[in-house]
Amino acid sequence: MRTPLIAGNWKMNTDTSGARQLASAIASRAGEAEGTELLVCPPTVYLSLVRDAIGDAAVGLGAQNVYPEANGAFTGETSTSMLCDLGVQYVILGHSERRHILGETDQDVNKKTLAALKAELRPIVCVGELLEEREAGKTSEVIRRQFEGSLANVSAEQIISTVIAYEPVWAIGTGKVATTEQAEEVHADLRNQLTSRYNAEIASKIRILYGGSVKPDNAEQLLSQPNVDGALIGGASLKADDFLAIAAAG
Ligand code: PEP
Repeated sequence: MRTPLIAGNWKMNTDTSGARQLASAIASRAGEAEGTELLVCPPTVYLSLVRDAIGDAAVGLGAQNVYPEANGAFTGETSTSMLCDLGVQYVILGHSERRHILGETDQDVNKKTLAALKAELRPIVCVGELLEEREAGKTSEVIRRQFEGSLANVSAEQIISTVIAYEPVWAIGTGKVATTEQAEEVHADLRNQLTSRYNAEIASKIRILYGGSVKPDNAEQLLSQPNVDGALIGGASLKADDFLAIAAAG
């Protein structure tokens, strides 16, 4: 009942011709992922050219960040209305690189989430624990705190448009993937939190993606878990073959 979402986070990679080629290659083979929603999230500067390369293929367009104010004196930032103007449908928020390298807090992520929802952009809100937090047995506490903080004041109507991504920080770009049990445990916990905050029917509609070293050879196992509704993919999303192989496993 939940359509799997396979989202590629290109991070700060590609250039003009690389972005165009990658988007075109994915768009031309989008039919291979029938029953799965495909999404690419290129760097902001390439959003327009990626949108044009996708054309009318069934591939969504996402951004990697947004600033929560409508417009004004915020040098270097990009607003929700600018993203909407470019045809962007989704925005990744609270990625661990933004939390840990750029110092974003749950409060920042929450402001961005509420601004995105107000503009009818669908947020993909990332949560995930550090290795030391997992080793200290604090995973569930950290995820709960990030869930509460990042999704504060999101209404029942708005949460339906929201996607959550569980990305253990120790698994991102490291080649260390969470076991299916580790992933499913956190995903089930997130679904329980959605049930407590909203209700079971709403919780059953929300997609919870896994992210962290997803590759074609581990995707099938992860995506077969009952509460894993897709993947947020970094490294492997930069090769059309790998990205589409992961989507085919969904
Ligand atoms: C990510 O950056 O969201 C990610 C999951 O990266 P990777 O797939 O490279 O671990």
